[in-house]
Amino acid sequence: MKVPFLDLGASYRELQTDIEEAVLRSLRSGWYIGGSDVESFENAYAAFTQAQHCVGLANGLEALHLALLALGVQPGDEVIVPSNTFIATWLAVSECGAVPVPVEPDALTCNIDDSLIEASITDRTKVIVPVHLYGQPADMDAVLDVARRHGLRVLEDAAQAQGARYKGQHIGAHGDIVAWSFYPGKNLGAVGDAGAITTNDAALADKVRVLRNYGSRQRYVNEVQGYNSRLDPVQAAVLQVKLAHLPEWNGRRAQVAARYAAAFADTGLLLPNVPDWAEPAWHLYCVRHPQRDRLRQLLTDKGVETLVHYPIAPHLQAAYAGLGYGRGTFPLAESMADSLISLPIGPAMSDEQVAHVIASVLAAVRELARA
Ligand SMILES: *Cc1c(COP(=O)(O)O)cnc(C)c1O
Repeated sequence: MKVPFLDLGASYRELQTDIEEAVLRSLRSGWYIGGSDVESFENAYAAFTQAQHCVGLANGLEALHLALLALGVQPGDEVIVPSNTFIATWLAVSECGAVPVPVEPDALTCNIDDSLIEASITDRTKVIVPVHLYGQPADMDAVLDVARRHGLRVLEDAAQAQGARYKGQHIGAHGDIVAWSFYPGKNLGAVGDAGAITTNDAALADKVRVLRNYGSRQRYVNEVQGYNSRLDPVQAAVLQVKLAHLPEWNGRRAQVAARYAAAFADTGLLLPNVPDWAEPAWHLYCVRHPQRDRLRQLLTDKGVETLVHYPIAPHLQAAYAGLGYGRGTFPLAESMADSLISLPIGPAMSDEQVAHVIASVLAAVRELARA
């Protein structure tokens, strides 16, 4: 049996008629930038995330970037980011000419350790960017408390957290502004690049709306030096069809996660640690094992495809050599990069596939323990 890490075409096939109808309607409308498909998705996504405003954008990196600009981040400013995140969180900061200041994660949840944030704040710090990594909410109350005490703004990187809940409320408006990616592999994925911000702050939403459109509110009148970072109407039409199915899809992900958690409880694998106030979107199911690479090989041999999120911590990437951080600077991020393995999880997995992953992991872990 083969278990792919992710079946990207599955959500399209499941909704093929509805998606194709929506795309054809969009194409036949003759309206190819902005318009009612974009507005209608923005309204639906704002409602879903319990936020007052949603602004559709070209992708998740641009959502982070324009959100930081809207928050007033300028060259030379510092922005606090997790030491263990996808590189885009850091790139958005660099794109503003600002400096990413890494803070280590909590060893169990893998999300930013709020107790370490304070020590990294300087006169130049403007924004804190918690990432809801792997789809599990960061502890927003703790992060907002530090931010409030220091007069800082909070941007949430929610690229992996569509549908996740923090203390019962959907991710979408806990911080000042929230950045989303609808990259095809996310829980809510377009058929190309797409992104958005959500916020309860009308002024921030307005700033992002102007920034996404050349810095212009009125045609050929430019208030600021903006960008072209608009959500494509065809993507918006697809996203709107899929959004209605996201809760059910996330429910199926949670069932897979629950089966993994029960099966792997006493295996020596370090499993995702979910605080009782967190309802993850289960974008990824990441476990840790000291012999990660051998475990991956054994699973590959059994037809189980796995990935690593992420194999190189941002501070050790060549892209950030200029910051001068060597190995050992952020040991928790480094040890996660060395020991994490992402098992297949997704709404399209069959019971048999889940059972095959479980049996393969149990056999592999036993084999590694014997060796
Ligand atoms: C996917 C992702 C992004 C970037 O989104 P794109 O749409 O690919 O630009 C940013 N942050 C995190 C945590 C992500 O997983």
